[in-house]
Amino acid sequence: MPHVVTQSCCSDASCVVACPVNCIHPAPGEPGFAEAEMLYVDAATCVDCGACATACPADAIVPHTTLTQEQQPFLALNAEYFQVFPHRDRTPLALVHEQRRLERKGPFRVAIVGAGPAGLYTADELLKHPEISVDVFDRLPTPYGLVRAGVAPDHQHTKQIEKLFGQIESQPGFRYFLGVEVGKDISHAELTARYHAVVYTVGAASDKPLGVPGDDLPGSVSATDFVGWYNGHPDKQDLDVRLDAEINPSGRVVIVGNGNVALDCARLLAEDPELLAATDIADGPLAALRDSAIREVIVLGRRGPAQAAFTVPELVGLAGHTGINVVVDTGDLPDEDAFGAGDVKSRLIGELLERRFDPAKRTIVLRFLTSPTRVIAGDHGRVAAVEVGRNRLQPDEGGVPRAVPTGETELLETGLLLRAVGYKGLPVADLPYDAESGTVPHTKGRVMPGVYVAGWVKRGPTGFIGTNKSDAEETVDQLLDDLDAGSIPEPVGDAQGVSAVVRGRQPAMVDLAGWQAIDAEEKRRGAAECRPRVKIVDVDEMRRVAAMARRPRYALLRRGRS
Ligand code: NAP
Repeated sequence: MPHVVTQSCCSDASCVVACPVNCIHPAPGEPGFAEAEMLYVDAATCVDCGACATACPADAIVPHTTLTQEQQPFLALNAEYFQVFPHRDRTPLALVHEQRRLERKGPFRVAIVGAGPAGLYTADELLKHPEISVDVFDRLPTPYGLVRAGVAPDHQHTKQIEKLFGQIESQPGFRYFLGVEVGKDISHAELTARYHAVVYTVGAASDKPLGVPGDDLPGSVSATDFVGWYNGHPDKQDLDVRLDAEINPSGRVVIVGNGNVALDCARLLAEDPELLAATDIADGPLAALRDSAIREVIVLGRRGPAQAAFTVPELVGLAGHTGINVVVDTGDLPDEDAFGAGDVKSRLIGELLERRFDPAKRTIVLRFLTSPTRVIAGDHGRVAAVEVGRNRLQPDEGGVPRAVPTGETELLETGLLLRAVGYKGLPVADLPYDAESGTVPHTKGRVMPGVYVAGWVKRGPTGFIGTNKSDAEETVDQLLDDLDAGSIPEPVGDAQGVSAVVRGRQPAMVDLAGWQAIDAEEKRRGAAECRPRVKIVDVDEMRRVAAMARRPRYALLRRGRS
């Protein structure tokens, strides 16, 4: 009776350490851990104790007896992994590194800029040292970055990781400075002067350009903005998204790129809005989706099925969705070339060809070997069609299959084009910047002694939520080396002094109690509608709710509850 890892595993490996028989792999330090799309439970070794399920921050591990019909493929996926990688040399227990201890006496103060997963994993790693306190800054009055504004609302189990973040932020030595913009309210130079170290975990806030004529027309929207829109990001609520039949008589959306972001957007557009109404989707986008005239979403991959950027767990989730047609179009690629690569992804995509089409349902088309060549405006000056070109695959010098245009083109009518070709990091004021990768150049996270990076601003926009844990560990190791080496000058002032400076610059700053007030208010509004939360999407309203936490009556109520 094994436990099974299912979508969406966050790969932070908390389960590996909890397992009493070391049956979850690849484990940190093992080949493939950093690249793994998910972790796998060895059914032959699992004793079904459930320790992994308790430790999993994303509720992704279940006993196999409780797998739903849609989750059944994960049983085989877990088993197949161990057929290929048996890990026969595994130790009886997972190897846990001895906790490093600082040689120099503190106290040390660290500023973390960015309250997303990378920032919070970094804080957690630092707070394992009682000599260190951390102040986490974020431009928004709410923390959790892409867990709040990126993870799709129909993936509520993935958002369970917020419980872990709640534990991290409640540790002694942790403070929030939310709604404070570094570079505007307080400068990099001021932070480096007042803290022993500054760690930037600001993610990748922009998107890669598509680079075809017309891609800046109204109705051509970056998927990163679209994701922020439906997730209630305050900056994205006025996004120009038109799903109505007047602007989009074709009833079709075209998405360029076939990574997990593209699949998230496609699912949201094809999903029954009444199911989304039970999630924490933002209210404005929910209303737009309720009025949507969209019937078909075409996801364009420039290469073939084996090179699709979406991951197997996400594909299994989509394939298991009984309310949506999933159709595959491999262009001119013969079936044996399209699905014969022997990899799990090609096999699963091939199985979709057998699926019965139900005209009553909305449809997602996974189309391969197709690239946009230009975007065409209609009479209203907005996107009316996308010209797409067929590709063939040709290996480059390193043997990697690349898309080469065949010269054949066709027009796809659409009123909305989503550009889902990847996120891109923006320059950070006063830090070096590599424009090609959109990252800050660094060595294992060290930009220079006293200044560090972790997360997407360090490694680029790849990996899953939990990937940030090992990433943060590497960065924190460099920071501890520099503290121990004494290579960081002693900062000016103290913790109270920093707090006074920041409050002076941004009196509406939101601290932990303020964030907890916003969180409680959103959940209270959600409970009234049988939803996990109703997101507040206006920054001023967030600040007003947070300010309630400073009122004595509210403080008394909170104390009374605890
Ligand atoms: P991604 O995985 O890098 O996918 C980008 C896609 O855009 C690829 O299909 C790529 O094709 C295509 N592309 C790039 N340039 C193009 C161009 N000029 N023309 C046409 N296509 C182009 O990026 P993402 O989807 O934004 O995801 C970012 C990261 O977040 C990934 O690590 C992803 O797994 C993660 N994420 C995970 C989840 C989840 O676990 N549920 C959800 C969302 C995001 P090529 O492969 O040919 O370059």
